[in-house]
Amino acid sequence: MTTQTDGTDGTDGTRGTDGAASTASTAGPAIATARALVKVYGDGPTAVRALDGVDVDLVRGELTAIMGPSGSGKSTLMHCLAGLDRPTSGTVEVDGEEISAMSERRLTRLRRTRVGFVFQAYNLIPTLTALENITLPLDIARRPVDRAHLEHVVDTLGLRDRLTHKPAELSGGQQQRVACARALVARPAVVFADEPTGNLDSTSSAEVLGFLRRSVDELGQSVVMVTHDPTSAGYAHRVLFLADGRVVGELRDPTPARVLDALGALRTAARQ
Ligand code: ADP
Repeated sequence: MTTQTDGTDGTDGTRGTDGAASTASTAGPAIATARALVKVYGDGPTAVRALDGVDVDLVRGELTAIMGPSGSGKSTLMHCLAGLDRPTSGTVEVDGEEISAMSERRLTRLRRTRVGFVFQAYNLIPTLTALENITLPLDIARRPVDRAHLEHVVDTLGLRDRLTHKPAELSGGQQQRVACARALVARPAVVFADEPTGNLDSTSSAEVLGFLRRSVDELGQSVVMVTHDPTSAGYAHRVLFLADGRVVGELRDPTPARVLDALGALRTAARQ
């Protein structure tokens, strides 16, 4: 059986759900790649195969959304790509470096210097101001703050008049924008965002997603975002669909309607 997500443009469309490994690749240069990626949690009869042979190329300078039903492996894939979790087998490369076999020390360094994170729960330090939160990763890594870039990020995210506020004095949307600024200010090779608008109302979501997209279009950032929301996915250049630990489809230049159609087609295919 081959699953075709309706509405793909057909150029680098969708892949089969059967066969040895699911694949999603593009012609552009990759900021992160996974090859034959397998992640098994536990062992014996209760083992869970969260990733079941994923091959994927995430394109540099693009916003990629990862979608799929709950339990399909989205967070596991993101964590393996970001060096937060180690695969059971297979390889991961980030910005040209294979991270799957890196020592913990090098991996920590890579996460500090080359990878940015945005989490659903913002994860800001409550006792620090917005500005102190934004520069914290650079301070920890003892790297100088590039003032011009900081100013650009702060203005892009509309945070100029909030920099002296503590997180408790900011709305959820503003807190998440601070978290985005914190991820962007170190000029990471790639930013991973896990359900970045999961706690936000639709207006704040639109702001945060708009800024993530602008960070790609205007700052040249590469962003990978896990989401279950077709509207959020509509901000991406490309959507990858996961099911049962495999990439089962993709969509280029998505709109929320096309994402909904694709999800419907994948659900139908899963029932057959
Ligand atoms: P998603 O993000 O799409 O909801 P996950 O990557 O969180 O999916 O999970 C994929 C599968 O792996 C699920 O069956 C989940 O229960 C399982 N899983 C995830 N993390 C762990 C873990 N730490 N220990 C055991 N099973 C896990």
